Amino acid sequence: MFQFNVSHFQGKARTGRLSTPHGEILTPAFVPVGTQATVKSIRPRDLLEIKSQLLICNTYHLYLRPGVDVISNAGGLHGFMNWKGPIMTDSGGFQVLSLGAGIEHGVGKTVKLFADSTDDSRVEALVDMKKSRGEIITKEKFCFVSDERIIFKSHLDGTFHEWTPEKSMEIQSKLGADIVFALDECTSPLHNREYTEKSLHRSHAWEERSIVKFRKLHNKAQEIYGIVQGGPYEDLRTESTKFVESHDFFGVGIGGALVNKTVMEDILDWVSKGLSGKKPVHLLGIGGIDDIFAGVEKGVDSFDCADPTRIARRGDILLSPDDGGTRKNRWRANIAVAEFRDDLTPLGINCGCPSCSEGFSKSYVNHLMWSRELTGYTLTTIHNLFVMEKLMAEIREGIAENKLEKVRERWMG
Ligand SMILES: [Zn+2]
Repeated sequence: MFQFNVSHFQGKARTGRLSTPHGEILTPAFVPVGTQATVKSIRPRDLLEIKSQLLICNTYHLYLRPGVDVISNAGGLHGFMNWKGPIMTDSGGFQVLSLGAGIEHGVGKTVKLFADSTDDSRVEALVDMKKSRGEIITKEKFCFVSDERIIFKSHLDGTFHEWTPEKSMEIQSKLGADIVFALDECTSPLHNREYTEKSLHRSHAWEERSIVKFRKLHNKAQEIYGIVQGGPYEDLRTESTKFVESHDFFGVGIGGALVNKTVMEDILDWVSKGLSGKKPVHLLGIGGIDDIFAGVEKGVDSFDCADPTRIARRGDILLSPDDGGTRKNRWRANIAVAEFRDDLTPLGINCGCPSCSEGFSKSYVNHLMWSRELTGYTLTTIHNLFVMEKLMAEIREGIAENKLEKVRERWMG
């Protein structure tokens, strides 16, 4: 049921088909983010209309709410969210370590403090101590990482949860996405070389445990990607690529590459040198238009990124080159500014997405954004995802006809 076939190469860039039990994905593909089992503000039928092929949902969020059993009882994510196309779920590790740990809220130090602990009893003793105090810590968040497990505090209600590679696999099995990811530890660019190396070996051990558990649970309806980590260090990325390639993973995920543009391109370069070319490659959490060109040219087949939908909700609309999108204006314009108040032309005059072809004007969406009317978010989200699909279709066609550089020039200048 699962197959990945490349039909054409141009250099390292390639176009092909990724087959899953819920349908085929033409690659390279953009993957909209459906964190809470929904792409915010739009319905599955909108996604079908704009030809979205594959969604990624977040295991951590869905595990906490509504809970895996609710989703499992509904027939998994496909039944629950009424999206019949292919779905990916992440391992939950990234959110556990960022939201659970509250890195963004200054509790990253806690992670750092305990991250090196290989002594589970110490970790558990600390958690027990906190629980025995009737632990609902109001302002702090906690996440303890050991070689065995992650113990974290829910960002929703302060309850403690334990996460292991085996548990991530069990949860992802119940969620029922077509493609699941092994549990890894995503390091931040702030981590030093010593920690990144230690963390990489922990990730590899977790990924080995993930695949053992996954194969035991295997029902042929899912496949698994391993994840390449290793921070901004060439030798670690090379080692990690070799690890994922040599294990029984169907695909390769590239994690932790969001450092800055230059480092990201270096990372893609190092990883691409070690790829066999047989497995589909997914770049996690990155999908700016320039990033997509950089990735495609290094052999990346799919990209997930929340930006096109996130920026839509603040009134930023994406512009293809047909509507004046350039690298300089970041392929976007903010529709909420005063200059569009009386502009009766569509969001993109040459766009052709459902929002634009139905005739919704800049003036109207400008008003909706100012009034925080929900229809505004729907219209801009549909438009932005359509522009991403247009980009990907052009890239696929460009590779197939050996003229990717022309597509690149059209979009990137
Ligand atoms: Zn449009």
